Amino acid sequence: MGVSRQLVRAGVPIPQVKYIFISHHHSDHNLEYGNLFYNAWAAGLSTPIHSFGPKGIEAMTKEYWELNKFDVETRIEDEGRPDPRKLLIAKDISDDGVVLKTSDVTVTAFRTPHPPITDNFAYKFETPDGTIVFSSDTAYNPKLAEFAKGVDVLVHECLYVPAVDRLVATTKNGATLKKHLLDSHTSTEDVGRIAAAAGVKTLVLSHFVPGDDRQVTDDDWTRDVKKNYSGRIVVAKDLMELKLPV
Ligand SMILES: [Zn+2]
Ligand SMILES: [Zn+2]
Repeated sequence: MGVSRQLVRAGVPIPQVKYIFISHHHSDHNLEYGNLFYNAWAAGLSTPIHSFGPKGIEAMTKEYWELNKFDVETRIEDEGRPDPRKLLIAKDISDDGVVLKTSDVTVTAFRTPHPPITDNFAYKFETPDGTIVFSSDTAYNPKLAEFAKGVDVLVHECLYVPAVDRLVATTKNGATLKKHLLDSHTSTEDVGRIAAAAGVKTLVLSHFVPGDDRQVTDDDWTRDVKKNYSGRIVVAKDLMELKLPV
């Protein structure tokens, strides 16, 4: 939630967005999918946006138009807007492999387990300036190191195990949350193993679990990563910008 606003704050005019990649259908990854498109349309979108994600994104797109039928039809009629339903082109991804190839970028999907979710994809972005892999949310998966072999930047999720009990104690409605977190994310120590095995130039830690615990410092996030990985580590912050080549 908040991706439209963050794009604006990052200086990206949202009607210029061309592609959306969803890694998996947890709500912290897809909640603003439809609304990002809608905001782009409201802000003047006239060219298509292609969206990619695991099975379900095509159905979600269809249902999104049902949800917003009244406003869509009102604005087409009353404001002379183009029909947004023709401008959002969704594609379910079911297998590993190249999902998009343009003159600027080749995007490859790679399935990685995020229990109980199996329809979950990491993405590799190959550009003339360098190659980036986003891990998606993932349990520790040594195969990701092969997928990310030698890339310039690996953006990997991370779990700080010593803070899990505190997180679970403050979340009052998740009886099996601790088990979910431990089973479905990668500890900082294991993130270091992946980055070292892949031999990446820069490791960017992102998607922090917990994401809002002020007691967890940047040193906490990197300490156990460094046990296994000696390359450059960046602790990601909102709106941080990293230039390629690194
Ligand atoms: Zn997830
Ligand atoms: Zn997530």
